[in-house]
Amino acid sequence: MTPTYDLNKIKFATDEATFRRAVGLYESGKVTEVEGLGGYYSAVVLGTKPYRVSVSGRNYKHGHCTCYLGQKDTLCKHMIALALYAVMDGRPLSDKDRQLFHHVECSRWLIFWLNCFYVWRRS
Ligand SMILES: [Zn+2]
Repeated sequence: MTPTYDLNKIKFATDEATFRRAVGLYESGKVTEVEGLGGYYSAVVLGTKPYRVSVSGRNYKHGHCTCYLGQKDTLCKHMIALALYAVMDGRPLSDKDRQLFHHVECSRWLIFWLNCFYVWRRS
């Protein structure tokens, strides 16, 4: 089973703190007993307590977690950690994968070059 989302989609919709915590959980092997069944991934994520987590393979925002936030229908770090596992298939993340805001850097460069062009045109 392959999820229909990828790492960038997860990064795009996750705030930095939650993403970093989820990466931490994933990289320290806290996402265990992963199963893909009926379009859903399920796992036990070891946080303060072991939490039962499931996320959809179509939309990682659709899922459940037995932690405090998950019960309130908030996308928690455990769900993100499982989504990371689904996307990476258990493989290690590279430095680039861990970076969150490279698209912001890109747009800064673009604005910089557009300004250069504008100044050049006017001179
Ligand atoms: Zn949770």
